[in-house]
Amino acid sequence: MQPDCIFCKIISGELDGRVIYQDKLVTAFPDIHPAAPVHFLVVPNEHISSLNDMEEQHEKLLGHLLFVAKTIAKQEGVDEDGYRLIINTGPNAGQSVFHVHVHLIAGKLLPIQTR
Ligand code: AMP
Repeated sequence: MQPDCIFCKIISGELDGRVIYQDKLVTAFPDIHPAAPVHFLVVPNEHISSLNDMEEQHEKLLGHLLFVAKTIAKQEGVDEDGYRLIINTGPNAGQSVFHVHVHLIAGKLLPIQTR
């Protein structure tokens, strides 16, 4: 837990993040500025600033983040139509919150952006 981290505050319950899922490793809650009708963030409970800071010991955690994201996609009923998972890392990708998070975005036709 990092005291000035907004996601750490949601994970701990200090801030109401409308948590929809939480287990020993990860927490999921809606994005406050949704980019699509369905937009959740899945984050590790451990404060890790970015994907660049994840190490070998985090391999299982990384897999779990994706597994929980795909489980939420099914629960939200968007698994068949499709969804996008995004991990923005660093300034060029526009990372604005420095606590690793997977965006789960769905609910409309998403523009294909490869560059
Ligand atoms: P990124 O730009 O990939 O770092 O994404 C950070 C995301 O966190 C943005 O989509 C924000 O809308 C979202 N966000 C920031 N503060 C909150 C908050 N208090 N609760 C939920 N989502 C948030």
